[in-house]
Amino acid sequence: MHEGWGVCSKCGVKYFSEKVKYPCNDIPHEAGCPACDNTLFWVSRGTEDYNIITEEQFNKNQRFENSTPLCTYCRRKMVLRNGSRGMFWGCPGHPNCTYTRDY
Ligand SMILES: [Zn+2]
Ligand SMILES: [Zn+2]
Repeated sequence: MHEGWGVCSKCGVKYFSEKVKYPCNDIPHEAGCPACDNTLFWVSRGTEDYNIITEEQFNKNQRFENSTPLCTYCRRKMVLRNGSRGMFWGCPGHPNCTYTRDY
C-alpha cells in the first residue's frame, strides 16, 4: 500500500490514504472506507500507518496546510489555540518554545 488516491470497490467513494507515523503501533489492523464498512487494506507495518480520509477532508487539509504558519524559532508547524484573548497560533513545542502569532 502507498500514499495516494483510491476508490472503494464497494461503494465507489474516492478516498485518499495519507501516510502517518505511529511510532509504537505494532498491531495489524484494517483501514476502512470512510463511507461504508468495506475493508480497503490491512496495515501491518509497525512504523508506517495510513489514515483514510475523504476527498472533502483532503481538500480541507490542503487549505489548512497552506495557511498554517511555521514557528520562527523551531520551524514547527504551528497549531491553533483558543486563549482568553481569542484564537491565536501557538508553537507545538510549548512550553520549551513560547512563540505565538496572532490568528
Ligand atoms: Zn465504501
Ligand atoms: Zn517554536
